[in-house]
Amino acid sequence: MECCDVLIVGAGSAGSTIAKHIAKKGYDVILVDSRENPGTPQQCSGLFSKNILELTTLKKNEILKEIKGAVIYSPSKNKLEIKTKKTQAYVVDRTVFDYRLAIEAKSTGAILKTKTRLIDCKKNTAYFSNETKIKYKIIVGADGPNSTVAKIYEYPKLEKKIVGIINLYDKTQKQDFVELYLGNKVAPGFFAWKIPRKTDYELGIATELNTKKFFEKFKKNKTFAKNISTTAGVIPLECRKITVIKNSLLVGDAAGHTKATTGGGVVMGMRAATIAANCVCDALKNDNLKLLKSYEKLWRKEIGRDLKYAQMFRKFLNSLNDKQLDKFVYISSRKEVTDFLKKHGDMDYPNKIIKKLILKPRVWLPYVVFIKKILNIII
Ligand SMILES: Cc1cc2nc3c(=O)[nH]c(=O)nc-3n(C[C@H](O)[C@H](O)[C@H](O)COP(=O)(O)OP(=O)(O)OC[C@H]3O[C@@H](n4cnc5c(N)ncnc54)[C@H](O)[C@@H]3O)c2cc1C
Repeated sequence: MECCDVLIVGAGSAGSTIAKHIAKKGYDVILVDSRENPGTPQQCSGLFSKNILELTTLKKNEILKEIKGAVIYSPSKNKLEIKTKKTQAYVVDRTVFDYRLAIEAKSTGAILKTKTRLIDCKKNTAYFSNETKIKYKIIVGADGPNSTVAKIYEYPKLEKKIVGIINLYDKTQKQDFVELYLGNKVAPGFFAWKIPRKTDYELGIATELNTKKFFEKFKKNKTFAKNISTTAGVIPLECRKITVIKNSLLVGDAAGHTKATTGGGVVMGMRAATIAANCVCDALKNDNLKLLKSYEKLWRKEIGRDLKYAQMFRKFLNSLNDKQLDKFVYISSRKEVTDFLKKHGDMDYPNKIIKKLILKPRVWLPYVVFIKKILNIII
């Protein structure tokens, strides 16, 4: 039987990041994934804000498009346009990106085992579908929203989740902005989108219910090219109430480190993975597993508030009917707001925006028409 200090289950962006940082410090790390190639098939739009550059350097072959803005359509097609001259986000090929992160983890010393699905853990030994057995001191669940580690260690469930579907079409789009479509008849509980890529474009949707049905409706009049792939996945819209139990911890989607506003989880998951790596190394260095608990406090301190604000904003948007959504987009399309968003907007860290917003009553005063809804959420 193989032994290691840390067993990491899931070689997605979060798992490979934590594996790299722990292996770098010289600990024995085994990184396993049930897939043959981490990242394939791609179940994600791969849209990352420029904050990704604080976590990793994107390679040229990973970038499919530089995104300079967004156009948001209300149910009656009121438009909120935020277009800038500078790159605000990247569309990234996650098949290449995730694979590169896994190889980076391997080259820093982690052992990478693919086609290895975790089934069970007993007495600090993990059992896999291919009969592999691994003994570990610490186990990390980076195995996505349906985490097996979370089930085995009996973590509180992720109750709020939605399903997203994406289709790729074989035509290039010249636009360097993304389109978002809001509305209870378009995508109840979330939104639909169009994202340009290098040689193709993506249509996608996430909804609370009947995702397939709403997607069929949304695609009409927008599918003027050949559909070359369809994938789907689950997006958590809340964080788990606990992310450390005994000698285990959860990161990324497994922990619910996903923004409820956009469904994006890569930047937050990689940040949490960096925090987790330090706590794991600390616990190993001091031979004290109780130190793992500091991860719970630290990630909540660093990104917890941003994730909470994203959840509150999602709750607010979901409380609006179509007429109110029209009004919201109309108010948001005023020059004061678009100028503010161009200057201070941040897809990942709303906490920073709120602090700046408070000082700009000309921007937020018109939203007072929604005060009842806002208070309902805050109080
Ligand atoms: C339709 C859709 C669109 C999205 N678009 C975006 C976007 O544009 N931008 C963004 O930032 N985020 C987006 N997301 C969210 C993003 O995909 C996730 O937040 C991100 O992939 C989470 O990374 P992770 O490493 O935590 O988990 P994952 O990327 O889910 O990786 C988990 C890994 O664990 C492996 N695994 C699972 N179970 C086991 C097991 N039992 N044993 C071994 N291995 C296992 C899986 O094979 C997988 O490789 C989207 C999600 C969906 C569904």
